[in-house]
This record gives sequence, structure tokens and C-alpha cells, in this order.
Amino acid sequence: ENYVNNDVKAIRPSAIRDFDMKISSIPGLVKLTLGEPDFNVPEHVKEAAVQGIRDNDSHYGPAAGKLELRKAVAKYLADTRNVDYNPEDEILITNGGTEALTAITFSLLNPGDKVLVPTPVFSLYFPIITLTGAECIQVDTSDDGFVLTPEKLQSEIDKHGDVKMILLNYPCNPTGRAYPEDLLRRLGKILHDNNILIVADEMYSELTYDQEHFSLATIYPEQTLLVSGLSKSHAMTGWRLGYIAGSAPLIGEIYKMHGFMVTCVNDIAQDAAVEALNNGREDPVAFRKEYQKRRDFVVDRMEKMGFDIATPDGAFYVFAKIPAQFGKDDFNFALDLAKKAKVGVIPGSAFGAGGEGYIRISYAASDEKLQKAMDQIKQYLDTLD
Ligand code: PLP
Repeated sequence: ENYVNNDVKAIRPSAIRDFDMKISSIPGLVKLTLGEPDFNVPEHVKEAAVQGIRDNDSHYGPAAGKLELRKAVAKYLADTRNVDYNPEDEILITNGGTEALTAITFSLLNPGDKVLVPTPVFSLYFPIITLTGAECIQVDTSDDGFVLTPEKLQSEIDKHGDVKMILLNYPCNPTGRAYPEDLLRRLGKILHDNNILIVADEMYSELTYDQEHFSLATIYPEQTLLVSGLSKSHAMTGWRLGYIAGSAPLIGEIYKMHGFMVTCVNDIAQDAAVEALNNGREDPVAFRKEYQKRRDFVVDRMEKMGFDIATPDGAFYVFAKIPAQFGKDDFNFALDLAKKAKVGVIPGSAFGAGGEGYIRISYAASDEKLQKAMDQIKQYLDTLD
């Protein structure tokens, strides 16, 4: 016990994985817990990795990532976001989006710095801020359909003064909400006027259904750190491939922390990523079509069962408000669903303020599994009425 760092001791392990582990041993459980695409990595991307192995790509590479990959990222962002990054010093290849976000907070935040985090959001955000000694200010968006409004942003800035950074995730895990261009422009102006560094987590940018993805980096490239990767777009969660794009002075500092943390990213995964970004632009389109059908199916079924849902614009989650007659305790509700309906979902409070009373359902699962899950939830709820 005395050997452990006090701050690490004080934090809890990932609430999502924690709950997932807790229920995983239940026999016959239909698991809709993790943000894990059920698709396979596209064949041409796998082939590029196999070729990399044959070519003996098995050495330490540059800490920032292979130049060929940084060029592919820069070209991809230029084509999709209309923003020009220099592959030499404005792109950093990371061990997934997770390391990208952690390297950012660990290299930029000082104790006492204030960071705005619109919630509910991916639970990783909380420990990576608090471990630096910075203050994580959760901004509950549940009253506004799970989007941060310019009015709310301004009032938080007025209330807290001197905010250094905002972590904004769109499309959002767990709510699926995205931000349309006009809203991002209004939020961006306030953030710009107040000199607040924007960390834009665009991990799900390829998976938007009813609107075009727009990036804050397009308007404020100097003041934005764009985080994305291939985990969701190319179903490559296990390959651990992410990236950060931003101004050279910031990337230069994050680069140091990244080097200490991981040295460099897996050589072969980088070969695969070059192929995915250069020649696999259509891969996410096929995934997206499937996800959209599943979203419509799950939203429809859940609404019929009495759950209230702000229709997700993207990603692959449904964030559903538990009907009032079943109480507000999302943890126990999710536990009951697992034990009695044999369906695994994540309690909303894992995602911070505003998540209480909700559950997150991941629909990155086969049609058959989703059908079964919805039937079982319905059967279970019918027994409660
Ligand atoms: N950001 C968000 C919003 C996520 O949902 C996830 C993964 O679930 C990540 C970042 C981390 O991505 P990666 O698996 O590439 O580390």
C-alpha cells in the first residue's frame, strides 16, 4: 500500500471495463457493453500489414511515427477537413486515441489548471485530467439534448474564469450526438476569444449519419489539437493506431511525453494505417451504412419500450433514459438487465455528470445479437409492469 502513488491510489479503474468485467461471467449474456466494432479489418489493410512483416518492418521507428504515415494523415485531414498540417512537425502517431489524449493532458496541464469537459463523455477523460493535478470541470449537457450550447459554455467560463483547455468529443461516446457546423462555429468563437485550447476528439468522425462531420480544426488550426485514429473507422481497435494533429510548438512538447511513454508505435500497424488512409477511404462508408440501420432498429425498439433517447447522429451508441417507473439508479438497473434479461449494457453514470438514470447500449454488434438483446430486455421489463 505504501508503495503506491497517492493520486493513482485515489482513482478508480476504467468504470466501463470495470462494469464489463463484473457482468462478463454471467452465462448466456448478450454483451452490448464495449465500443468495439464487430467488423473485421478490411482485407487490403491486413495485406499491407502482412507485407510489412515480410519486409522486416520490425524495428524502432521515429517516435513521431513513420514519415509516410504522417504524410498519409496530413493528406487525409487536408482532404476531409480542409486543413493543412506539415507532416514533419505537426502530426504525431500514437498508440490509439487513448495515448493521444493521455500524452496531451500529461504534457500540457499544470496542477490547478482548469479544464472543461462536456459530459456525459468517455470515462478516460476524468483520470487523465485529475492525475495531472488539473481541475476537471464537468459540464452537464443532459438538459440540452447532450450538446454543449454557446450559452452554457459562456456561463461556465464566466463562473470559473481562466479556463485553459476544453476536451470536446464529437460524435460523442456515449450519446452519439454530433455538432453541426454552425454550432461549432459559435462555440469555436467563444473558445477562441477566451484563449482556450481545444482538444477535439474526433475518433468517430467517419461514423456520422445525418450530417457531414465538421472539425473545429478547420476554423482554428492553431488553437486546436485534433485527435483521431483508425480504431473505429477501420475496426482496428486492437491495432492501437491513433494520431494528433496540431501546431508545431504544441506537438513538439507532446512528442517528448509520447516518446517517454511508448517510444514509438507498432511498426506493422503503421504500414496498415498508411494503406487504410490512402486507399481505404470507402471502408468506413460500408460500416456506416450497417451501423445506421442498427441505430434505427435499436432506437425504435428502445423507444417503444419507454426509453427516452436523443437520437444519436453518429458513433455506435444509444444513450437511453431509463423509464421513470424503474427508478433512477442506472447501476442497479444495468446490473438487473445483465442478471435477469441477460443483456450487458453500461450504466450511464460511468460517463460523468448527467449520465445518472441512463444506460449506454453499444450497437457495434450483429443484427442477430441486437434483435435478441431487444427481445430479452422487453421480456424482462414486461415482468416488472
Ligand atoms: N475517444 C473516444 C471518444 C472513444 O470512445 C475511444 C474509445 O472508445 C477513444 C478515444 C480511444 O480510442 P482508442 O481505442 O484508439 O484508444
